[in-house]
Amino acid sequence: MNERTKKNRLIIVSNRLPIVLSQADDGTWQLRRGSGGLVTALAPVLKDRGGLWIGWSGSDQADRNVVQKLLRTETKNFGYALKPVNLTTEEKEKYYEGFANEVLWPLFHDLPAHCNFDPEYWRFYQNVNRKFANVIKQSARDSDFVWVHDYHLMVVAKELRAIDVKSALAYYLHIPFPPLDIFLRLPWRFQILHALLEYDVIGFQTLRDRRNFIQCARTLIKGIRVSGRGQVVSMKYGDRYLRIGAFPISIDYRDFAKLAGSKEVSERAWYIHEDFPEQQIILGIDRLDYTKGILDKLKGYRNALRRYPELQENTTLVQFVVPSRRSIPKYASLKTEIERLVGEINGEYTRSGWIPIQYFFRSMERPELIAYYRTAENALITPIKDGMNLVAKEYCASNIDVRGLLILSEFAGAIAQFQKYALLVNPHDVEGIADVIYQAFKMTAEERKDRMRRLRRIVRRYDIFWWVDSFLKAAFAKDLSDFPLMEDYVPEEFSESGAG
Ligand code: UDP
Repeated sequence: MNERTKKNRLIIVSNRLPIVLSQADDGTWQLRRGSGGLVTALAPVLKDRGGLWIGWSGSDQADRNVVQKLLRTETKNFGYALKPVNLTTEEKEKYYEGFANEVLWPLFHDLPAHCNFDPEYWRFYQNVNRKFANVIKQSARDSDFVWVHDYHLMVVAKELRAIDVKSALAYYLHIPFPPLDIFLRLPWRFQILHALLEYDVIGFQTLRDRRNFIQCARTLIKGIRVSGRGQVVSMKYGDRYLRIGAFPISIDYRDFAKLAGSKEVSERAWYIHEDFPEQQIILGIDRLDYTKGILDKLKGYRNALRRYPELQENTTLVQFVVPSRRSIPKYASLKTEIERLVGEINGEYTRSGWIPIQYFFRSMERPELIAYYRTAENALITPIKDGMNLVAKEYCASNIDVRGLLILSEFAGAIAQFQKYALLVNPHDVEGIADVIYQAFKMTAEERKDRMRRLRRIVRRYDIFWWVDSFLKAAFAKDLSDFPLMEDYVPEEFSESGAG
C-alpha cells in the first residue's frame, strides 16, 4: 500500500459487527470475536490505520447498555474500535428479514417469484440505512475512507451525502447484481440505482455483476458514460467520476491449508473416511437457502444412482445443510422438502451396510468442516446463483493431499476463476449433474491431481489479503491502467471448452 492510502482512516460499515453475542444459562451476555476471512483480512488494515467498524450487534434481545459495556470491555485487544447501531425488533424484521432477505436477496439471485415487495419493508430499509448514516456521521472525518458492505446498506451513501458527510465512500456488493430485466421488477429500482451512484467506488464479485450494473445504470439513468477496460473502469455520472471494479472475494488460504495439516484435523479426516472405507465421498455443504440448488443436487444424485448403478455402494453423498433464516417461511418449507427427498432416496437405494445419503442439518466447528474438506474425494456445489461461494475455495485450500475434485455450478461467482479446472454443471440439469458425478467417479488420480493443484494455486494467489489490498488500491490509485484482468480469469460466464 502506498503512502497516500496509509493516511486515510478506514471505517468499515456492515450490517453485523464482527462479533458473536450469546446468552449464558444464567442470563448474562457474552461477546466473542467473529471468525471468517473478511474479519481476518480487514483487522490488520484497521489496526494499521486506527480504524473503526460500525454495525448492528446482531441481537435485538440484549439490552443496549449491556452491549455498549461489553464492546467497551471485551474488544480492547481487537486493535480497532467497534461502534454499534441499535435496531429495534420491528426494524430487524422489516429492514433485515424483510427488505434485505425477502426482496433484495431473492431478486439479486434472479428469483423474483420469491420476492415479497412489501412497501413497508422499503420504508424500514431507508430508515435503517439513515440510522447507519447518522452513526457514521458521529465518527467520520472528511479525510476518512468509509467502506460499506453488502445488500443491507445500498442507500447509506445517499443518506450520508444528505447530511453533509464528505468522506470518500466505497461500497462492495457480496451478492450478485442481477441482469436488467430482473432488476427492472424492483419497484424502487430508480431510488436504489441513484443511491448507489452516490458512492465513489463500487466493487462487485465478478465482471458479470459489474456488466449487469453498468447496463442497468446506462438504461435507467441518462448521461452515464463508462470508460476503460480491465478490472476497474471509470463511470461518469453528472460531474462525478466513480470507479467500478470486479474483485472476487476469497479466503485466508494459508490458514485453511495449515489447519488442514494439523494433527487434530488429520485424525478427524481419517476417522470420517473410516466410515466409508471403499467409497468415494461426494461432499455437499450448503446453508439452508433456495439459491443453493440443494433439491436438484439430490435429484441429480438419485438420477446418477439409477443410470450408473456402479455408483451404488461405491459412493456416498455427505450433505450438510447449515440452519439459516428459519423465521422466513420459504426457508422452513425448503427444509421439509429436502428432508422428504433425502428420505425418499435413502428409502429406495439403501442396502445392508450402505446408505446413499448421509444427511446432517447442523453447522460445524472449523476443525470438523476442514476435516470433511480434506478427506472428501469430491465437492458437489450446485447453487442456482451465488455471489462467489466460499465453500468452493475453502475445499481447494484444505485439500492438501491434492486428491479432491471440485464440481461447481456454472452460476457460482467462483466459476470465473475456476472454470478451466473444476467440472462444471448446470444446476438445473438433473441428468447433467448425474453425468458429471459419474465422470468424477471415473476420473484418474493424475487428472484429479492436476486440476486440484491448479485450483489451489489460484486460491493461494488471489486470497482474501489480495482482495482487500486490490480493492483499496483501486480506490486510491492515480490512474486505472494498473488494473488489467487477473490471470486465469474468464470474463464470460462459461465456455464450451471449460465444461469438463
Ligand atoms: N460454514 C460454517 N459452518 C458450517 C458450514 C459452513 O461456518 O458448518 C461457512 C463456510 O466455512 C463458509 C460459509 O459458511 O465460509 C459459507 O459461505 P458461502 O460463500 O459458500 O455461502 P453463503 O452461506 O455465504 O451464501
